[in-house]
Amino acid sequence: MFSSVVAAFSRNFGRNSKNKQGKAPPVPDLPQGFQPAHSPSSSHGGGVVHQHPPSSSSSATSGTPRARPLFLCQPFVKASLLRGSMKTIVVLPKYVDKGEWLALNVFEFFEYLKMFHGVIQEFCTVKSCPSMSAGPKFDYKWLDSHKRPTTLPAPNYIAFVFNWIQDKTNDENIFPTKTKPITTAMLNTPSAGALTSSPAGTPGAGQQQPGDWIGKEGGFPPEFYERCRGIYKQMFRVFAHIYHTHFDKIVHLSLEAHWNSFFAHFVAFGREFDLLDKKDTESLKELIEAFDAQTASLASSSSSSSAAAAGTAQPSSGGAR
Ligand SMILES: [Zn+2]
Repeated sequence: MFSSVVAAFSRNFGRNSKNKQGKAPPVPDLPQGFQPAHSPSSSHGGGVVHQHPPSSSSSATSGTPRARPLFLCQPFVKASLLRGSMKTIVVLPKYVDKGEWLALNVFEFFEYLKMFHGVIQEFCTVKSCPSMSAGPKFDYKWLDSHKRPTTLPAPNYIAFVFNWIQDKTNDENIFPTKTKPITTAMLNTPSAGALTSSPAGTPGAGQQQPGDWIGKEGGFPPEFYERCRGIYKQMFRVFAHIYHTHFDKIVHLSLEAHWNSFFAHFVAFGREFDLLDKKDTESLKELIEAFDAQTASLASSSSSSSAAAAGTAQPSSGGAR
């Protein structure tokens, strides 16, 4: 089901339609009154934030054992629209430019994330979320105009992030919507070789030659891949905040299967193209491990059924409440 949702989304909400504000992708079973996220009004363009994992301060601020996060509890941790590996829906399709595939998916993940955020937005207030927290150990900071890490209320932080990503994805110089010829300036840019320092052997970044970069053939600039990674990192933090702080609202609306599937898809795509550093995923490490374990368990228990291992959609557990 989720794959069909993704397919429908891809068809109906392609990257080239990104300027059609307010056109909601077809996520099924949305609750009444569902609203996309409001466009942030802030014009802050920094976008670079600093992760501050105060592992030591967690013990100082919490004297009692913390309850296990709801999203790690049964049955919610198993709620999904899709059983099995996401590999088949994240792998680069034949004859598709890698830059175009990255741009399309990053853009679509962003649109979906804004929609889900819209579901919990009214509950994420300055009062309820005075910082951009993700559980007891992570408190993400925003770098102010002087590059000083600053605590922002989560709604403000998320608004800044969404604004920043919107600016990036709307920037024709970074996310061109039309294939452009490779210019001499692009070929000669000093940063053209930057991507060659990406981890060798990774599916997304490997096999780069000097003067080559991901998306080059599709007309994307040399810095495109690093921009995608920056966007991905920020989107992950929004996932983390929602999981740790507002997952109960997701459950209340019976959206946990959609949300988990969306996140699993996001992580799988990030892995496929090396868009996330491991240190940046620590705040949801246990959840990712739980998803991996479920996938591995399913693959081993149904090794005779290639359909399950290949990610064929299965009915939702329905055990949301
Ligand atoms: Zn919040």
